Amino acid sequence: MTCRILRMLMVAMAAVLAASPMAMAQRKAQPPISLRLYVLDCGKLDIPDVTPYQLKKEDMATTVMSVPCFLVAHPKGTLMWDVGAVPDNAIPTGGTGRLRGYGTSTKTLKSQLAEIGYMPADITYLALSHFHWDHVGNANQFAGATWLVRKLERETMFAEPPSPRTEPANFSALKNTKTVIVTDSDYDVFGDGSVVIKSAAGHSPDHQVLFLKLAKTGPVLLSGDLYHYPEERKLSRVPTTEFDASQTIASRAAIEAFLAGSGAQLWIQHDFTGNAKLKKSPEFYE
Ligand SMILES: [Zn+2]
Repeated sequence: MTCRILRMLMVAMAAVLAASPMAMAQRKAQPPISLRLYVLDCGKLDIPDVTPYQLKKEDMATTVMSVPCFLVAHPKGTLMWDVGAVPDNAIPTGGTGRLRGYGTSTKTLKSQLAEIGYMPADITYLALSHFHWDHVGNANQFAGATWLVRKLERETMFAEPPSPRTEPANFSALKNTKTVIVTDSDYDVFGDGSVVIKSAAGHSPDHQVLFLKLAKTGPVLLSGDLYHYPEERKLSRVPTTEFDASQTIASRAAIEAFLAGSGAQLWIQHDFTGNAKLKKSPEFYE
């Protein structure tokens, strides 16, 4: 075989390998030059009854809630923000995983991370907006990350008996994980002001939201469950099931003032219509 033919063969083989999903999955992501935000599909919630949200079906665009997970990739490391409702091991290949009857998911978080070159074991930090079951589904996969959590939220998660609003088995591995107890109202994850966890208590004892300063997109705030439906914000409705409704009202006022001051967009995580318009991984915001 001539050298030229050999070279042509090698080029062809490399092209085939690069195009295969296997090769895609095995390609390990390199730290980005600037901050990136990936929106991952962690399913949806078909809320059976919206009366606890002080809303009427007829006043709403939809009663369905989106369940996104977020990967923040910073030059100095990565942060997972909220990890879904249905754990990956409850999602059958090619089928639908279900939790509590109305939480469903068709894609595993692990496969979506693999598609962009990450494995749960590679993730530097884990932060949850709060402890409710629809935000902690895959927490056990991130037990190798450093967990950024506030005191009351962690205490609530490991209280006996456990809160009926969560699924303790889905985050049990966090109990002994490397943990940073966040005490400041604002916690600057990478030290450059581009990724800041902000206290916004009320929905749960130490509920929090995430501020991101993206170079091209501009500032974005991920809501956690400060609001669930956009109609709650528009009509100033506070759910009856809040941990502390007066705290929620105060947190909403503080965050609204922050949004006005910073010019950040608010992404309401459970807003099904808003979420449907967002670019999904492997695309990203930067
Ligand atoms: Zn929620």
